[in-house]
Amino acid sequence: MIPIAKPSITTEEIEAVSEVLLSGNIAQSKKVDEFEKQFSDYIGSDYAVSTSNGTTALHVALLSNGIGKGHEVITTSFTFVATANSVLFTGAKPVFVDIDPNSFNIDPCLLEEKITKKTKAIMPVHLYGQPANIKEINEICQDHNLILIEDAAQAHGAKYNGKKIGSFGTGCFSFYPTKNMTTSEGGMITTNNKLLYEKAKKIRNHGQEKRYYYDTLGFNFRMTDICAAIGICQLRKLEEFNKTRRKNAEFYSKRLSKLDYLECPKIFPKKEHVFHQYTLRIKNGRREEIIKGLEKAGIGYGIYYPKPLHKQPLYIELGYKDKLKETEKAAEEVISIPVHPSLKKEELEYIVSFFEGLK
Ligand SMILES: *Cc1c(COP(=O)(O)O)cnc(C)c1O
Repeated sequence: MIPIAKPSITTEEIEAVSEVLLSGNIAQSKKVDEFEKQFSDYIGSDYAVSTSNGTTALHVALLSNGIGKGHEVITTSFTFVATANSVLFTGAKPVFVDIDPNSFNIDPCLLEEKITKKTKAIMPVHLYGQPANIKEINEICQDHNLILIEDAAQAHGAKYNGKKIGSFGTGCFSFYPTKNMTTSEGGMITTNNKLLYEKAKKIRNHGQEKRYYYDTLGFNFRMTDICAAIGICQLRKLEEFNKTRRKNAEFYSKRLSKLDYLECPKIFPKKEHVFHQYTLRIKNGRREEIIKGLEKAGIGYGIYYPKPLHKQPLYIELGYKDKLKETEKAAEEVISIPVHPSLKKEELEYIVSFFEGLK
């Protein structure tokens, strides 16, 4: 079985973790500071605040931006559930816009019609590692005085116009094992705003002002030094990981773009895709048949995502009745195939031959 995702862990990470375990500082200490500093340097943001996972990064980012009850946050329904749930956690309401079918990301042309007096923020997701149309979204944010929060959980190292994703608004990253880099569980917020940085650090740690004094409601969303030690090793290798992902994607697209029953991911000028996923669109309702074939051939795959958020029982129960044509179509057509950096040449060849062999 060729897995859809595989974290690249070597003796480097194992030794770094052992060192932390033997140091006695196994919760949050200096390794976390070091990792935050290196991550903000890498992204090109002034500050970074680590969290226990990507979901808590989104949650803290929203709270630090003052989002709560009575507010609306415009986002996409074609994403992992944590994107919109984090808005619900704060008491605010996620408002969904449809996607651009070419990029699977928020369609900026549809944003303005969803803005109301209650709108506080726009939260694009850089889905599959493909940067969203940040320039257009940013302009709308500025025109309407809205906050930009980037769900960059799938886009570590991706660039828009030469600038890293996560450095435009408040950036939120996940280090779950399937992502482009991992810390086991972990997350990070990036920002250029000192006040927001200080708020986020506080909310992550029980809202503690100084030891055992609290002026805001906070959480225990801290990252540990054990996780940070893994993250430091992974960050050193991220550029290499992403380069290999792009090379694998290029290999696929060169051959698969010749097949008429599918569409390969699109590449746009000014956008550097980091291929968290390599996602095909299967036409003519043939996805089920292809899934069966992949299973038989021992090729891992993923459907990200089979049911858009506005169609989930949780959201139906909350009263959501949206009709999002492109989102719903994409959910029926997409399939992601392995693109991770541990793939061998023979495996890539085997996967391509599978698709070429289909009539
Ligand atoms: C993975 C992911 C998250 C959540 O991150 P966790 O670390 O799993 O909590 C949020 N948004 C998107 C788009 C993701 O892919």
